[in-house]
Amino acid sequence: MANVVDTKLYDILGVSPSSSENELKKAYRKLAKEYHPDKNPNAGDKFKEISFAYEVLTDPEKKELYDRYGEQGLREGGGGGAGMEDIFSHIFGGGLFGFMGGQGGPGRSRNGGKRRGEDMVHPLRVSLEDLYNGKTTKLQLSKNVLCAACAGQGGKPGAVQKCTACRGRGVRVIIRQLAPGMVQQMQSVCSDCNGEGEVINEKDRCRECEGKRVVKEVKMLEVHVDKGMRHGQKITFSGEADQAPSTEPGDIVLILQETDHEDYRRDGNDLYVTRRIGLVEALCGFQIKLVHLDSRQILIKHAAGSVIEPGCVKVVKGEGMPHYRNPFEKGDLFIKFDVQFPENGWISPEKLMELEDLLPEREKDENITADAEEADLEDYDPGQSSCGGHRREAYNDSSDEEGGPHGPGVQCAHQ
Ligand SMILES: [Zn+2]
Ligand SMILES: [Zn+2]
Repeated sequence: MANVVDTKLYDILGVSPSSSENELKKAYRKLAKEYHPDKNPNAGDKFKEISFAYEVLTDPEKKELYDRYGEQGLREGGGGGAGMEDIFSHIFGGGLFGFMGGQGGPGRSRNGGKRRGEDMVHPLRVSLEDLYNGKTTKLQLSKNVLCAACAGQGGKPGAVQKCTACRGRGVRVIIRQLAPGMVQQMQSVCSDCNGEGEVINEKDRCRECEGKRVVKEVKMLEVHVDKGMRHGQKITFSGEADQAPSTEPGDIVLILQETDHEDYRRDGNDLYVTRRIGLVEALCGFQIKLVHLDSRQILIKHAAGSVIEPGCVKVVKGEGMPHYRNPFEKGDLFIKFDVQFPENGWISPEKLMELEDLLPEREKDENITADAEEADLEDYDPGQSSCGGHRREAYNDSSDEEGGPHGPGVQCAHQ
C-alpha cells in the first residue's frame, strides 16, 4: 500500500490511497449524487470517471493491479470492457502517449466506439455586398476519404497484422523495478509500427492507397451565405472533414471574413457611409444619389434653409443591413456629411464683401487691448499634406473617423 505508483483514481474520489473501503464508498456516494447526469447535465464525463474509479478501487484484484502498476496494470489486467478506452484516455490523458492516435491521421480501431476526427476550419472571404444580398458559392477542397479499393483496410483481408512489438498498442511500456516495491514505468511510441499498432507487409499493401487506407479526393461544396450574416459567423458542413478508419469524420467549418468596403461600413445591422457635399449644398439644400449595396439608387433630398454642419450625421431608417434569418427587417443607414469648403481665391475681394453682407454678422465684442501681441497663424500639417491644396486628402483620410463638426480640414478654412 505504501508504494502506490499513481493516485489519479484516488484523486477523482478525493480520498487518500490508505482510505478504507467504507471511506471510499462514502466519498463515491457523495460525488455520484452531485454529478449524476440527471442532476448535473453539464458535468460531462465526470460521473463516468467517478464510477470508473469506484469500480476499480472496490475490486480487490483491480485495486491491487492499479496500486502496483498504475494505469498500465489495469490495461494489462483487462481493467475495462468495451468503451473503456474513452474513459481511460479521459482520466489518464492517453492522447499524450498516443493511445488515441494522432488526430486526423489514419487511425487504428481499438474497440467498437468511434472517435471523432478533427474539424477542418477555413476562412471564407465575403464582401459586404455578399452579406447584404446573400450569395451561393462553390468551394473546392481536397480531403481524405477511405480508400475504396481496400475498404479502408490498407491491404487484402488478413494483410493487416497486429504489431507484435507493441501488441497493437502503438506504444511500448517498460516497467522497471527501481527498488523493492517501487517501479518506474516509461512509455514510448512503438518504432516497429510508428505508433499505428498495426503493420502490413509491403507485398500485401493496397496499391491505390499504398497501405495508407485513405486517398485524396476533390470535393465541391455549395456554400450558402445568407442575407445578414456577419463577420466571424460559422457555416458548418457536418461530417465533411477528412475521413479515417474507425473515425467519425469531423465537420468542415467555414468562418466568414467580411472584407472592407470602399464606401460602406457596418456595425451590427446598421450601415455607415460618408458623403461629401459642397458649401452651397450645406447651406442651400440638396438632392443626392446614393448607390446601395444591391446597386439600387437612393435619392436623398434635403430642403433649403436647413443647414448641414460639417460632420453632421443623418439617418435613413430601414436602409441598413437585412437581419439574419429575417431579411425583410433591416437596420438603419447613417450618413455623415463632410462639407467641402471652396478653394483659396475662389471669389474676388469685392464679391467677398457682398457675401459678408449676406452671411450672419460677425461677433464684434472682442475687446482687444493695446498691449496685445500679434502672432502669425501658419498652416499646420499633421501628416505630409499641407493645408489648402491638399485639403481634400485630409478629408478622405478622416472620413472613417468620428471627427465631429470640426474635422481637421475645417480648421484650415480661409481667414
Ligand atoms: Zn508497434
Ligand atoms: Zn487502399
